[in-house]
Amino acid sequence: MEPIFSIIAPIYNEEESLPELYRRVSEVMDRTHEPWELVLINDGSQDKSSEIIRELATRDKRVRPVMFARNFGHQIAVTAGLDYSRGEAVVIIDADLQDPPEVILELIDKWREGYEVVYAVRSEREGETWFKKFTASIFYRLIYRITDVKIPLDTGDFRLLDRKGVKVMNTMREHHRFLRGMSSWVGFRQVGVNYKRGLRFAGETKYPFRKMLKLAVNAITGFSYFPLQLATYIGFLSAGLAIIAIPVVIILRAINPQMFFGQASTLIAVLFLGGVQLISLGILGEYIGRVYDEVKGRPLYVASETPEDFDIETQNQ
Ligand code: UDP
Ligand code: MG
Repeated sequence: MEPIFSIIAPIYNEEESLPELYRRVSEVMDRTHEPWELVLINDGSQDKSSEIIRELATRDKRVRPVMFARNFGHQIAVTAGLDYSRGEAVVIIDADLQDPPEVILELIDKWREGYEVVYAVRSEREGETWFKKFTASIFYRLIYRITDVKIPLDTGDFRLLDRKGVKVMNTMREHHRFLRGMSSWVGFRQVGVNYKRGLRFAGETKYPFRKMLKLAVNAITGFSYFPLQLATYIGFLSAGLAIIAIPVVIILRAINPQMFFGQASTLIAVLFLGGVQLISLGILGEYIGRVYDEVKGRPLYVASETPEDFDIETQNQ
């Protein structure tokens, strides 16, 4: 029977959280009295996650395993989940139980009211460092200001997507992905549901500062030309300043030949402009690199095992 609901959880070294994730998700989903599936994407874990996923999938046919050939990153893992999901409504959730599975029922209620995208808004974050909260808060507000898509503030990937939205998302094969932006871009009727983001069930964050920065850059470059335009703005600004400065300096020199004597001001101006030019070049490079990645047209991920492979393998046993 085709499932009505698909729950997608990306897994990267989550051996301690996995059994609890399965237990809580199945408990919550059974309350809907509808068929459901849990798509677990093993994003190249080095711990026992892979074995645990297999075990869960052998015991319960509703668990659908996707095994990556290596670590491709969280956003790509979720993308694979969207690719392999079959439900009419698809829920993306973190495996560490920071997003309480119980909230899924609230998302489903909104879906039943007719919304195609129901995103969960973190009204509270428990036990995260002030640094994470601070950088996250700046990040969401920056993205909101400079991108063309209005990505709701303080929302993560925890959300429900109707099949209509998933179909559109599955046609968007960009390599540097920012899924929450993509799901806003899709449109349809969207609504938020507040929830309290809890503590990690076990283990520690798989999102070090480096990965967060990468995600932020993907979000900005994926949805805005603003950084590219920055060079133009600064160019106009310094050209304007120069036009004003030229007559001012001429007049001051005419009045008093001692004024603007020396190289310091020249040096500062040259260094400043050199810096601005190099930064602009770097930004340009950032976009060109992304264009290059798209042109290569490589697949987004390599799966060493899909749910279908797993079905065949277990049937033969
Ligand atoms: N994750 C993943 N691949 C990665 C990093 C993370 O699939 O390279 C998964 C991880 O297992 C978890 C989710 O993405 O299910 C969110 O990661 P995490 O909880 O570490 O991020 P945080 O909540 O600290 O931002
Ligand atoms: Mg987490």
